[in-house]
Amino acid sequence: MNIREFSHNLEKLYQAMSAEFSAYQSTTGLACLAGCGRCCLNPEIEASVFELIPMALAIYDEGTLDQWVERLQSTRRETCEAFVPGEKPGEGKCGRYHQRPSVCRMFGVAGHHKKEDQVTLSICRYIKEYYALTEAQLVSDNSDIPMMVEWSYRMTALDPNLMQDRRPINEALLGALQKVSLYTAYQEE
Ligand code: SF4
Ligand code: SF4
Repeated sequence: MNIREFSHNLEKLYQAMSAEFSAYQSTTGLACLAGCGRCCLNPEIEASVFELIPMALAIYDEGTLDQWVERLQSTRRETCEAFVPGEKPGEGKCGRYHQRPSVCRMFGVAGHHKKEDQVTLSICRYIKEYYALTEAQLVSDNSDIPMMVEWSYRMTALDPNLMQDRRPINEALLGALQKVSLYTAYQEE
């Protein structure tokens, strides 16, 4: 496995994924709330080690891999270590936005199949409350809704490891950093 090629291909997929999900939020007007970072504070966010290879590689290239490993091992924080809190509770932003994993790109407004031909919108509760959406408004036959399952298939097609062995996001990042450290020691010395 060439880790840089893998990362490059995954980043291209991530960009296409973000473009589709963001475009949908934009065209429907269901934008995230200004300054909001509540979803990043959920201690149950999971990702696979392989999904975090682009983030780990960027950290390695910045020369801060050892500091990140130490930080992840010592703080053992329940919420994502990449989160940068804002001034008010619930506010903040992703400190590694361009390398965030798939769950962070699909969360917010996404579709899943309920019945044949019917798609249900899975919407963050803050967006749902803010725009006062009813349950009926969440069901649609609109083919433009970005579907989580389709993107999961595309991830699996790129590499089956991407959707397997999901674990808490900080553990996944630690695993990715350890992989990058190992691969780069062999491939780039
Ligand atoms: S990677 Fe970024 S977007 Fe994802 S949970 Fe962490 S801080 Fe939030
Ligand atoms: S998805 Fe919801 S919780 Fe996350 S930033 Fe957007 S509005 Fe906030």
